[in-house]
Amino acid sequence: MTQTSVRENLLRIQERIAGAVARSGRPAEEITLIGVSKTHPVSAIREAYEAGIRHFGENRIQEWEGKRAGTEGLDATWHLIGHLQSNKTARAARLFHSIDSVDDLAIAERLDRARAETGISGKLRVLIEVRVAKEETKSGMGIEELSAAAKKIADLPRLQLAGLMCIPPFLEKAEQVRPYFRRLKDLRDELAATLGLALPVVSMGMSHDFEVAIEEGATEVRVGTALFGARDIT
Ligand SMILES: *Cc1c(COP(=O)(O)O)cnc(C)c1O
Repeated sequence: MTQTSVRENLLRIQERIAGAVARSGRPAEEITLIGVSKTHPVSAIREAYEAGIRHFGENRIQEWEGKRAGTEGLDATWHLIGHLQSNKTARAARLFHSIDSVDDLAIAERLDRARAETGISGKLRVLIEVRVAKEETKSGMGIEELSAAAKKIADLPRLQLAGLMCIPPFLEKAEQVRPYFRRLKDLRDELAATLGLALPVVSMGMSHDFEVAIEEGATEVRVGTALFGARDIT
């Protein structure tokens, strides 16, 4: 993909974001766009960076390890957005600024210990990925476990629990996803109130449904295809 088309795609995305914030009466500054660069080469990341993107999401540790050297010098925030296995927590704690897909208390505890061992100062930001639909195949923490786990994660010394994330079921019409987005936002509000924490981040919405997510309160949208073009199947 050429630089102009990443730029053009970004302009179109920014227009869509502007429309959604206008409809919902929210300030545009509340929305962070995360460019999901999984499967795309370093050159695409650099193009997006030059166009103004400062947050990137990758879903595989190994892939990111391979691409990292090529992004040296870019002052960006790198998010892990894919399922994290327990044997990869040490690498994740070293390589990312934020783990947006913590779906288990034991993983959070491992990340906390691993972060201490990296010697990196400052806490590692984490989001809890919540399973907003009752589909056994989807990753994410069950709603019934959320409150107790969040309380413990919030107390871990090297992690900063910043909010919640979800990947709702893929439904043709973005409008059908709205109830799941609403549920995540409600869960965040309840959790923030019961735990007495700020939990400012609600990460939800992808290429085909991020406008609805913004209308329902998303603060971070994770956009891959609409920015970088279609991915090869991996
Ligand atoms: C791939 C991916 C995205 C981006 O999806 P698009 O439909 O390409 O925008 C967002 N979030 C997560 C967790 C992903 O794995």
